[in-house]
Amino acid sequence: MPRMRSKTDLPEKTCVACGRPFAWRKKWARDWDGVKTCSERCKGELRRANRTTGTAADVARA
Ligand SMILES: [Zn+2]
Repeated sequence: MPRMRSKTDLPEKTCVACGRPFAWRKKWARDWDGVKTCSERCKGELRRANRTTGTAADVARA
């Protein structure tokens, strides 16, 4: 018996901010490789976290 499949067979990634899997979305079609978070909210969380960590690259950018 074949396994149930989602109707669309989209690629998935794990959000680096919340750790949850998320599926490809059309708005990311241009930059799927660069997408690391599932939502704008997580993107913001990540940015805040990076700021707290204070890597040299972030300091240079700021
Ligand atoms: Zn997330």
